[in-house]
Amino acid sequence: MADIIQLLPDHVANQIAAGEVVQRPASVVKELLENAIDAKSTSITLIVKDAGKTLIQVIDDGVGMSQTDARLSFERHATSKIKSAEDLFQLNTKGFRGEALASIAAIAHVEMSTKQELDEVGTQIKIEGSKIVSQEVTVTPKGTSLSVKNLFFNIPARRNFLKSDQVELRHILDEFHRVAMAHPQIHFALYHNNNELFNLPESNLRQRIVHIFGNKTNEKLVPVIEETEVVNINGFVCKPEFAKKSRGEQFFFVNNRFIKSPYLHHAVVSAFEGLIKDGNFPSYFLYLEVNPSSIDINIHPTKTEIKFDDEHTLYAILRSSVKHSLGQFNVAPILDFDRDDTLDTPYNYQQKQIDTPTIEVDANFNPFAEEMDDQPKMNKNNATSFSSSRPIKKDNSWESLYIGLESDKDFQHNFSSLEVESSEVTGSLFDDEEKEHTGTTYQLHRKYIVTTIKSGMVIIDQQRAHQRVLYEQFLKNITIKEAVSQQLLFPLTLNFSPQDIVLLKELRESLEHTGFAFTNFENEMVEISGIPMNITESEVGILLDQLLSDFQDGIPESGFSQSDMLAKTLCKTIATKTGEVLNLVAQEALVNSLFACTEPTISPFNKPTYVTMTVEEIDKKFI
Ligand code: ADP
Ligand code: MG
Repeated sequence: MADIIQLLPDHVANQIAAGEVVQRPASVVKELLENAIDAKSTSITLIVKDAGKTLIQVIDDGVGMSQTDARLSFERHATSKIKSAEDLFQLNTKGFRGEALASIAAIAHVEMSTKQELDEVGTQIKIEGSKIVSQEVTVTPKGTSLSVKNLFFNIPARRNFLKSDQVELRHILDEFHRVAMAHPQIHFALYHNNNELFNLPESNLRQRIVHIFGNKTNEKLVPVIEETEVVNINGFVCKPEFAKKSRGEQFFFVNNRFIKSPYLHHAVVSAFEGLIKDGNFPSYFLYLEVNPSSIDINIHPTKTEIKFDDEHTLYAILRSSVKHSLGQFNVAPILDFDRDDTLDTPYNYQQKQIDTPTIEVDANFNPFAEEMDDQPKMNKNNATSFSSSRPIKKDNSWESLYIGLESDKDFQHNFSSLEVESSEVTGSLFDDEEKEHTGTTYQLHRKYIVTTIKSGMVIIDQQRAHQRVLYEQFLKNITIKEAVSQQLLFPLTLNFSPQDIVLLKELRESLEHTGFAFTNFENEMVEISGIPMNITESEVGILLDQLLSDFQDGIPESGFSQSDMLAKTLCKTIATKTGEVLNLVAQEALVNSLFACTEPTISPFNKPTYVTMTVEEIDKKFI
């Protein structure tokens, strides 16, 4: 049988390699920025068009390449950064595989101009799909300019797979930030579609972080500095009161390389133990310096994980130095971050008039009167009735026992919650107007609403039910686009980081359909003049923060899933919570709106909203 194995032609092999290196425009950005850094540049400019789909260009003022090197740089495994396998253990450069340029040139139109400092003229090379189109001598400043056009032009499937411009741009911003944060001493600029998005002057670490994440970051930062034999730690954590629900700003750099490490993340989070609420995350920007031979960087080109020789020690050092910083900078625990939820009016019922339940105590009521009367008047259905319309014999001697109780709130509270447990007894506790509500709903443990139906009873989870009601409302508003907005007397101004603003801009239209009205979207500031009917002004900040954290991993492409996610975030954030007291009107309104929903049985997060119990089922329990 004939031999069947063939060597793949280079351009095919390169295309396959490209699949590993280049997943999206942001991967190209990362590789080109890293090359510019390895070339010892002091100023790097990134120019992007259409989120990198049309153009990604990096211009640096680094060492440049000779004519031969310029040509060689596009060959696979061509690198100036390692010479032998041993070098792998002492890596001080970002790149070392010599794969990036070859891979990028295999799937795009690439143009490179480069010149070394002492050379008179430079070299310009054009490559399309691994094929060299031209190589010329050119006049160009010291350094390298590399532009990548029409990414994936020869792999339509990959091109179609790219996400919307906003999503791709966000990935690019992420890469840009990581590189810029690792090298504050280098000047970076970023232009997208001819707009300057960032211009980061050469600076120190703190200034770099503030330039990227906005001025308000400055006051939040607590320095962390620790020098040990195993590791030097330098950087900042954010004060606990600024911990966010989103996992946003958490950065580890090891030897100036951005890495992700759930293990080290845990070390930092555990240093914050007791200082931040459960479910909130501290922000941090931590730079670890270790001996290059103690880490294994020989990882997948697009991965950001890293292997340390002695992770346990690193964990302990990191945890204690963060703890120490928090203590040293006198960051005292803040226990009460939140307003008291129970003081809020349930959102849905704000317009409704609220009747305050009152207790009528008949000062003349004598519990022993009936016995004295020898004529028990117990209601058959209502054995524990507190009805005040009983026969009364004047005898005030027992009254002294109850002195002071009438005005005692605790007493009222216990009294009414006691009532909830037993059936049909609330009658005499409320005034006449309330009477028509009595007996139809009660709130159990500030968590469930219990009500009767023909066949028995229903127990409704108040939080999930309210989520369902709000979810359907929001979804409807977003889809039919006619939400009612409450105009704010004074516009609300909120600050966000530049990348949060990018995200909010994407969501702006959908948010407007829910009732938000924005008057201004500036660099780091959003001005809001109107908000949806069912939220309060004080909730807007929390809501937008939640929204940003939910959408951090990307806004879904399709309109429906975007609206769905938005409605979910809104309902999750503002729905009545477990633990909130609902008055009778609110309870009843919630029950009615739940059963008016299209899908009353499950919450938007696929959890049951209520359970029923038939009389037969209850009967069985009594056998
Ligand atoms: P690697 O970075 O792994 O070495 P690349 O394919 O990214 O591989 O680059 C190949 C080689 O081209 C590098 O080793 C370097 O010598 C040269 N090179 C790439 N970009 C630049 C640049 N901006 N300035 C100077 N030299 C560069
Ligand atoms: Mg490289």
